Amino acid sequence: MTTAEMTVFESMESNVRGYCRDWPTLFDTASGAWLRDSQGRDYLDFFAGAGALNYGHNNPVLKAALIDYIARDGITHGLDMSTAAKRDLLQAIDRVLLTPRGLDYKVQFPGPTGANAVEAALKLARKVTGRTTVLNFTNAFHGMTLGALAVTGNAAKRAGAGVPLSHVNSMPFDGYLDDADELSWMERALDDGSSGVDKPAAVIVETVQGEGGVNVARPQWLRRLAELCSARDILLIVDDVQMGCGRTGPFFSFEVAGITPDIVTLSKSIGGYGLPMALVLMRPELDQWTPGEHNGTFRGNNPAFVTATAALEHFWSDGTLAESTAAKGDRIQRSFTELVDEYPGLSTRGRGLVQGLVFEEASEAGKVCHIAFEQGLLVETSGADDEVVKLLPPLTITDDELDHGLGVLTRSVAAVRG
Ligand code: PMP
Repeated sequence: MTTAEMTVFESMESNVRGYCRDWPTLFDTASGAWLRDSQGRDYLDFFAGAGALNYGHNNPVLKAALIDYIARDGITHGLDMSTAAKRDLLQAIDRVLLTPRGLDYKVQFPGPTGANAVEAALKLARKVTGRTTVLNFTNAFHGMTLGALAVTGNAAKRAGAGVPLSHVNSMPFDGYLDDADELSWMERALDDGSSGVDKPAAVIVETVQGEGGVNVARPQWLRRLAELCSARDILLIVDDVQMGCGRTGPFFSFEVAGITPDIVTLSKSIGGYGLPMALVLMRPELDQWTPGEHNGTFRGNNPAFVTATAALEHFWSDGTLAESTAAKGDRIQRSFTELVDEYPGLSTRGRGLVQGLVFEEASEAGKVCHIAFEQGLLVETSGADDEVVKLLPPLTITDDELDHGLGVLTRSVAAVRG
């Protein structure tokens, strides 16, 4: 990036900007798993728009559907009107996602972002149960609006805005307490009237905590959590904003546990092409919204409905994407295991195509990402202290591309630890 270009951003864009500091170049075009900057330099993408680009950049199938829709003057902004694009999407959700899995959900379009979906889910749970408290987990991340932030575990993220854990009780996530059974602990807190923990409207959980550091809940932990909620008439919200749409293998990340959440939030890759869109799925009897009770101008991103439909039909009518995602996840695990064996203090965890390389020293994780960027690889850290190098490549990445990026990463770790 030239100094003049840099000045445009520094003088005009808020100090809140983040990724541009880690990746200081001027990105221009992108295709598949690659981005190109204005100097013609290519970068392999192990971040996929924070999980919004599971099918890669400018996926040709989705692009063709979008171009065709624009060419025929399809509705672009539709509030929550009935449109042909929305009809097609609802039918695709039913045909491709719900019916084959025996799931019965109604669909809400809560607004364009993941945080919008979380806000709607929390509001609905409070309204339906008449209770106000929500239970969240250590290291959870649910978004940056005040409600979503209030159920976000990371105190540092809440601090600036002075958002307390009011109406929220925090419980330890699976594996958080060494040698302890977190759910027995939670059960006791819920059932003991003197514990100070109110009976919550809902529990909100990620099956794999993405921003929290690739913390993977075991299927049996999720099953027990679901049982514990249902026995107490507490709604279970699975926030699948980052782990849904096949990130962990199956379309819904909770499929691994065979549970059926009461409410599911989806965003990021649901639009398919990187276009903003979010969904709340709710058990039909929970749909107690009155018309207009939760509204918003940008609930009807019809071009996103078109690419979402194309993505569901193209990628999810059979099980091949889930299978290839699991295989690519294993490929990363093999490479990470070699690093763990070679360098003391490293560990690894993940599921499908969300994989973490965990450093004892957080600054090392940041250095690895920095060196990787200089070698043409985009990869980011996550975790309470940014101690985890988190891999989130497009699900459509090829094995050769994956190996190329893993090679860069291996050399970056060697440069930091060698
Ligand atoms: N929930 C989860 C699990 C997320 O990972 C994120 C974003 N990283 C959000 C909610 C918020 O989504 P958005 O940034 O689109 O508001």
